[in-house]
Amino acid sequence: MGKTVLVIAEQKDQKLRQVSLEALAAARQLAGDGGNIVSVLVGDNVDAAAQQLADHEQSQVVCVTADILVSYEAEHYFAAVQPVIDEVKPDIVILPHTASGRDLAPKIACHLDAGQISDVVAIEAVGEDVTFKRPIYAGKAFETKRFLTGPWVVTIRPNNLQADATNGAAAPIVKRTYTEPTPVRSQVVDVQRKSGDTRDLTEAKVVVSGGRGVRSADGFAPLAELAEVLDGALGASRAACDAGYCDYSLQIGQTGKVVTPDVYIACGISGAIQHLAGMSQSKLIIAINKDGEAPIFDIADYGVVGDLFEIVPKLTEKLRDK
Ligand code: FAD
Repeated sequence: MGKTVLVIAEQKDQKLRQVSLEALAAARQLAGDGGNIVSVLVGDNVDAAAQQLADHEQSQVVCVTADILVSYEAEHYFAAVQPVIDEVKPDIVILPHTASGRDLAPKIACHLDAGQISDVVAIEAVGEDVTFKRPIYAGKAFETKRFLTGPWVVTIRPNNLQADATNGAAAPIVKRTYTEPTPVRSQVVDVQRKSGDTRDLTEAKVVVSGGRGVRSADGFAPLAELAEVLDGALGASRAACDAGYCDYSLQIGQTGKVVTPDVYIACGISGAIQHLAGMSQSKLIIAINKDGEAPIFDIADYGVVGDLFEIVPKLTEKLRDK
């Protein structure tokens, strides 16, 4: 018998995040024959994102909108999804393993008295037997887990599962007005945005990343050019951020963002374990480092021993010519 799966979809700046479609694909895999899939999207002015979600076959998309939901805030987002959870009574809830998904998932698990498996990178389903693969020890090993009882709450790491491509009849969009919890205990007062590249690092297919070897803020310019040619995003090691070469929003690693792009180009990065924690699951790793003994070469698929200031501009030029 099929299962009822609730997808907590995510948008950023009113645009549907790609990981929402990856969560929908996971839902399709887990719902099984005769299953029921419902998605919920929370935000302000997110009609276009809801429509994009609804273009993928499912029972319905529930859209909860209000001015106050413009930015993620745990108390409000949970209050927005809770009535949907209570109505749908899901066997399984799937969320993106993003900053907000990681925050919201345990609240939902607690509400449902459910078990939770986080940061899933692969789902294996053989009949009723479903297992979830997730990295542990900062990506040095994997573990495979299964639930013993329901309901299940699962968070999936962006860029690992194939996004849902199932078209068909558009699903109905049900709009819900938001009722604030009483009392409201917290509130987002101000959101300060960095100007510049707004590309989402965690969803980029290509990441060009710089470390201490980049030597200055200006040193990031050739990396930014390479990223632009490859339609990718710029990342950094913590040492580069600490040195003030770039903003902390670019930091990748144990205390930064976790990325799993198709291609990760590490420039002037030694490959400390804390950095690897954020990028070692990338599908193809290219390292450029003038020290042939740098540990980054141990996990790189391709390595170039040399000066990044010579190699990166040449690479950009070649790719531009293509
Ligand atoms: P370095 O280790 O100094 O390496 C610089 C590299 O650049 C060298 O290999 C050098 O050969 C090369 N180089 C220099 N000049 C050139 C050139 N012209 N061309 C090519 N190569 C050149 N780090 C993170 O990145 N992310 C994290 O989230 C993170 N979290 C941490 C959490 C904790 C609790 C701790 C203790 C540390 C954490 N760190 C993190 C820091 C981590 O341990 C390393 O210090 C850091 O990753 C090193 O950054 P790096 O590789 O840029 O610098």
